[in-house]
Amino acid sequence: MKVPYIMTPGPTQVRENVRLARALETTNPDLDIQFFDFYKETCERIGQFLNTKNEVRILSGEGILGLEAACASLTEKGDRVLVIDNGIFGEGFADFVKMYGGEAVFFKGDRQKKIDLSALKEFLDKDSDFKYATIVHCDTPSGVLNEVDKICPLLKERGIITVVDSVAAMGGEEFRVDDWQIDIALGGSQKAVSAPPGLTFLSISDDAFQVMENRKEPIAGFYCNLLVWKSYYKDKWFPYTQPISDILGLRAAIDNILEEGQENMINRHKKIGSATRKAIIETGLNLYIKDGYANTVTVIQIPDGVDDKKLRDCMLNDYGVFIAGSFGYLEGKVIRIGHMGENARIDKVSYTLFALQRSLENSGFKCKDDMVKVFLKYTC
Ligand SMILES: *Cc1c(COP(=O)(O)O)cnc(C)c1O
Repeated sequence: MKVPYIMTPGPTQVRENVRLARALETTNPDLDIQFFDFYKETCERIGQFLNTKNEVRILSGEGILGLEAACASLTEKGDRVLVIDNGIFGEGFADFVKMYGGEAVFFKGDRQKKIDLSALKEFLDKDSDFKYATIVHCDTPSGVLNEVDKICPLLKERGIITVVDSVAAMGGEEFRVDDWQIDIALGGSQKAVSAPPGLTFLSISDDAFQVMENRKEPIAGFYCNLLVWKSYYKDKWFPYTQPISDILGLRAAIDNILEEGQENMINRHKKIGSATRKAIIETGLNLYIKDGYANTVTVIQIPDGVDDKKLRDCMLNDYGVFIAGSFGYLEGKVIRIGHMGENARIDKVSYTLFALQRSLENSGFKCKDDMVKVFLKYTC
């Protein structure tokens, strides 16, 4: 299989040391006591990455498993859950809430803007009787970034615990679980963390544990039951055999992040994100979002007369570059460049923009300026 140049908003490119870590010889992770320490230490390093002292767990399934596990563990029949929705992932939380018997109550925002805090406040002043709330940090299909730093304290003040999907933001954007009072924070291996898909990880606050422990009905299911793990270390017991090679890879990726330093990593994304947006605008294209731009993904409106699929095929077949379209209500309307994690490098984005400009011209769209030149003007 010839692997193209992956510039999608996840999965992202994976560094060699992460790939090699996955090839290391493995022990029996159920029985070998060393692995319990390795797992615990890896969770602690993820906690460092998330800026939290809360318990962290790595679950064996990609990003979506974390979203479902949070809803499965918190929701009981008839619970009212606030679903904050300004995008496809935001809205999607309602499905998990309903699946486990909850009543999803939407707060809907403009899909081209970040969540309006004063409108949310007004809404909460009228109705704040919710067991928990769900919110997406970066809603990847549109590239909108929500201010979870302000939203979560607002909810917590009213006694509402929060589930935050930061799968596509953490690592590329500031993310401070304890300072922002996030009860369950969700991440995945395949976005800015830059490991292959296969793992989700999450932090769980004492308040969230308390809600789970005070349920009237036990949590339905096993894989999605976050209580099963409560004392794995003390008991030296895992609910199922751990995917040890995936965890070795994730550990190497987390170590890469801690070695670079979070601040450096966030600044790298700021610079790349902002230069990419300028390169798009100054060459005559339009961004999809009107405010709340994520620095991990740029979502570009497809110009009139250009076919989304043909454009992406040209990038892939003629230049070997894989970018993404979108889905749901955005299908065929936008293209997405994922510059998160290992993708957020000047050389990688430059080549992607070169391929984009050539492919646009091939579709008959004339750019007003040289995309790479504009990008480099703002990055170098
Ligand atoms: C990628 C992503 C996930 C993980 O799920 P996928 O199966 O990779 O789609 C969850 N939430 C968000 C916001 C994501 O971008």
